[in-house]
Amino acid sequence: MATFKAVRIDKADKGTSAALTQFDEAELMDGDVTVRVEWSTLNYKDGLALTGKSPVVRRFPMIAGIDFAGTVETSTNPNWKPGDKVIANGWGMGETHLGAYAEKARVKGDWLVRLPEGMTARQAMAIGTAGYTAMLSVLALENHGLKPADGPVIVTGAAGGVGSVAIALLSKLGYHVIASTGRMAEESYLKSLGAAEIIDRNELSGPAKPLAKERWVGGVDSVGSTTLANLLAMTKYRGAIAACGLAGGMDLPSSVAPFILRGVSLLGIDSVMCPIDLRKQAWARLATDLDAGKLSDMTQEVPLDQVIDAGSKLLAGQVRGRTVVKIS
Ligand code: NDP
Repeated sequence: MATFKAVRIDKADKGTSAALTQFDEAELMDGDVTVRVEWSTLNYKDGLALTGKSPVVRRFPMIAGIDFAGTVETSTNPNWKPGDKVIANGWGMGETHLGAYAEKARVKGDWLVRLPEGMTARQAMAIGTAGYTAMLSVLALENHGLKPADGPVIVTGAAGGVGSVAIALLSKLGYHVIASTGRMAEESYLKSLGAAEIIDRNELSGPAKPLAKERWVGGVDSVGSTTLANLLAMTKYRGAIAACGLAGGMDLPSSVAPFILRGVSLLGIDSVMCPIDLRKQAWARLATDLDAGKLSDMTQEVPLDQVIDAGSKLLAGQVRGRTVVKIS
């Protein structure tokens, strides 16, 4: 019987358990493309799934991991042939469909994006869902009409994965980037990515007034809760905040004041079910607009047998930037 290495999540007496095991190839789920997974990555949602801290996994057994880069092994999908280099993010992988922390994945060909010219599979996963979500956020701000000359932009959860990539992207595009972090010791790291100013996240974590002094015209928020409420209250007239995360909480204790008195927009960002054309656009922009040196500086690598431990550290706020996972 053919098996492959995988991080498997099972239901346990209390919650769930995660372990590196051999997985039976016959148990792979339906799909028209089978991929040899080479690299994956560690995202916040992976941390939640691996630790069982939130009910991310909705089918058991599950293979954890929400994104991968690899090479097509077999395909009955007309768009893909053996040897093609591909990327997959979301679509329920690691939640309802067997995921990425495995030597093999079987998925729908319609979920796949071709690895951009000039980008390695490792770089694609150094970017990962977190970085691609940062790009979706930047695209949303651009679609809103935001330009660097309009004023400063804020990035929250700055030392995390989404935050680090958002800073690198926005600074390369010419924005004056204000980075909000709970890790002031990471000031030189954040400046090396392109942050022009660093603020302590405590400045934004208390209860928000309906409106406060206008400080930025746009932002990428990976924190949610009172942080997002404060961001909105401090956004300049007709500015916009792209909301993509909940690292500080899922609530939003805000008011309509920023929307109806300052014409501020709240732009929702979802990476999981994002339409394929927008995915392709985001990956193409990542290939041109993300500095490869900065990406490398923000990335650490772990082998598959250390990803469970790394997931706990990520949720404890002890991981900086991005973590790429070597699969095979
Ligand atoms: P990381 O853990 O890498 O980064 C999160 C960062 O948020 C931390 O580094 C920390 O930054 C900050 N943070 C953590 N806890 C708190 C807190 N209690 N209060 C305020 N700030 C906090 O995660 P990712 O970057 O991978 O993901 C960030 C968020 O984006 C997550 O909520 C994730 O679920 C979401 N996400 C959403 C996607 C979507 O499709 N919408 C896709 C990808 C991610 P610092 O130390 O600098 O303060």
